[in-house]
Amino acid sequence: MKKILITGGAGFIGRHLASHLASREDTSVTVIDNESLGDRKHLDLDKVRFIHGDLASRDDLHTALEGQDAVVHLAADTRVMDSIENPQYNFDNNVIGTFNLLELCRELRVSRVIAASTGGAILGDVDPPVHEQMAPHPTSPYGASKLMLEGYLSAYSSSFGLSGCALRFSNIYGPRSFHKGSVVAHFFKRILAREPLVVYGDGSQTRDYLYVGDLVEAIRAAVDSDVQGAYQLGSGKPTTLNQLIDAMRTVTGLDFEVVYEDFRAGEVKDTWCQIDKARAGFGFEPSTTLEDGLRATWAWFDAQRA
Ligand code: NAD
Repeated sequence: MKKILITGGAGFIGRHLASHLASREDTSVTVIDNESLGDRKHLDLDKVRFIHGDLASRDDLHTALEGQDAVVHLAADTRVMDSIENPQYNFDNNVIGTFNLLELCRELRVSRVIAASTGGAILGDVDPPVHEQMAPHPTSPYGASKLMLEGYLSAYSSSFGLSGCALRFSNIYGPRSFHKGSVVAHFFKRILAREPLVVYGDGSQTRDYLYVGDLVEAIRAAVDSDVQGAYQLGSGKPTTLNQLIDAMRTVTGLDFEVVYEDFRAGEVKDTWCQIDKARAGFGFEPSTTLEDGLRATWAWFDAQRA
C-alpha cells in the first residue's frame, strides 16, 4: 500500500487528485488543508483521511506526514492579484509553508515530494512555447514564491537526498472549480449569471488549457517515477480566447454576449507550453479534447444552478 499525503487537497485540483488516487486499491490518501480556499465537503471522507491543518503548524504537518511514502504539495495562496496586494501573506504561506513541509519531510524521511509550480508566473512575458530551459523572471510575488519552491526542492534533493520534482501547471480547468477566478471558471459563472463575457483585446491572445482529469493522471505518474527537476504540464497547444469562447458556445448551446475592451497593459499576450520533457520523463500524454473537457465542466457548473 502506497501512502500519499496531499497538501491543499480540499482545493480544486486536490479534490480531483484525492478521488483519483483513492479509487486505486493500492493507495491510501491523506489530505491536509486549512480550508482557507478549499472545503472538505468536496472530498469523499469515507475514502480519504482529512486533517484540518496548516502548513504553518509543525504539529499539524507532523501528524499528516508521519508514515507517508510521498507528498503531493498543492497547498498555496493561489491568487496572483492577492499576492501583489499582500506579498507578505503570500511569502509566509507559500515560501515558509513549503520550507516547513520540506524540513519535516527530511526529518521524517518522506522520500518523494511532487510540488505544484507554474509556467507563466515564473517565466514572465517570453516568446512561446515556454519550456524548462528558459531563465525565470517572475512577474508577481506568487510567481516568485513558486520559484523559491523550485529552488528549495532542488537544494533538498542535492543536500539531503530528497527525491522531488516541480510540475509547472498551465491553465487547469474542470468541474468542481466554482471558487476559482481562472478564465474557464470565470466565463462559465458569467454565462450562468446571464452576464456578458468581457474580453480585453481582440480575443486573439493565446493560453494553454489542460483538463484536470489529464493533470491528475500526470501527477500520479510523476509520483510513481523518480524524475527530478521542473516539468511543464499543459495541452502543448495554444488556444485563442475566441476559440475558447466558440467552444463554450458549442457545449452550452447558448448564444451569450461577448464585449471586447482595450487590451490591458501588463497582461501576457501569448503563452503555451512545450510538454516534451514530461512526455519523455513519465509518459505524459493529455488525451481530453478542449470540447470534451469543457462539456464535462459545463455540465458540473450548470448543475450548480439549482
Ligand atoms: P485552490 O486554491 O483551489 O487550492 C489550494 C488549497 O490549498 C486550498 O484548498 C486552500 O485551502 C489550501 N491552503 C492554502 N494555504 C494553506 C496552508 N497554509 N495550509 C493548508 N492548506 C492551505 O488551488 P488549485 O487550483 O487547486 O491549485 C493547486 C496548486 O496548483 C497550487 O499550488 C497552485 O499554485 C498550483 N497551480 C494551479 C493552477 C490552476 O490553473 N489551477 C495553475 C498553476 C499552478
